[in-house]
Amino acid sequence: MSTAVPVPAPVTVPIAGSSDRYPVHRIYCVGRNYAAHVQEMGGDPRRDAPVFFTKPADAILADGADFPYPPRSSDVHHEVELVVALARGGRNINADAALACVYGYAVGNDWTRRDLQAGAKRAGQPWDMAKGFDHSAALSPLYPVSTVGHIDRGPIALRVNGALRQSSDVSAMLWSVAEIIAELSTYVLLAPGDLIYTGTPDGVGPVQVGDWVEASIAGLGTLSNRVVETR
Ligand code: MN
Repeated sequence: MSTAVPVPAPVTVPIAGSSDRYPVHRIYCVGRNYAAHVQEMGGDPRRDAPVFFTKPADAILADGADFPYPPRSSDVHHEVELVVALARGGRNINADAALACVYGYAVGNDWTRRDLQAGAKRAGQPWDMAKGFDHSAALSPLYPVSTVGHIDRGPIALRVNGALRQSSDVSAMLWSVAEIIAELSTYVLLAPGDLIYTGTPDGVGPVQVGDWVEASIAGLGTLSNRVVETR
C-alpha cells in the first residue's frame, strides 16, 4: 500500500512477565471518580457526577521514560490512577458482564495542565489541551487478570522525590471498574486495546523539572518517571 505520508507507528505497551506487547487502540479517562478529589477541586461529589474525556493513543509514556514538562503551562499536576486494559469490547455492556472484558490492569499517571484545565472549565471550553498533550498518559507495564486477578481495593499512592503526595484506596472509587465499562459502552463502541484511566484520588499537585515521580498500586508495582525540560 502506498501512503501519502508515513504510516504512524503502532502504539504498544509491555506486559509484565511476557514478551508479548499490548496494542493501544484508544485512551479513555474518568474524571471526578474519588469524592475527596472532587472536593479538593472545589466540586461536590453529590452534584458532580464522574465525567469522561480522552487522550490520543500516542500520548503513552513508558515506565522509566523522561516526562518532558509540556509547553504552555506553569502548573502541571500528577494524578495517579488505576488503568484498565480491555481484551474485548462492545456496546451497551451490562455491568454484570463488564469484568469479563478486562485483559489486565496497570498504574497510570494522568498528567494534567491544571492551569489550562481551570481556564477551560471557567470558559466552558474542552479539556483536550489540558489533558491530551504529548506524553500525558504515563503507564506501567500491564498485569494480566490471569496473574493478578481483578483490582478493586488496595493502596494507591504517589510520591514526588520520595515524599508522599497522594494516598488512598482503590475501593474509594465512586464508579467501580464494571460500572465505568458499562457506562462508557453506552457512549462508544469499546474495543480490544482500549485503555481506561479510572480517576485519581485527592492530593494532586504540581511538579517541577528534575522531580522523580513514583506512582504505585498494591499488586501492580510502581510507575516511575523523571520530569525533564521540554525537548
Ligand atoms: Mn485524572
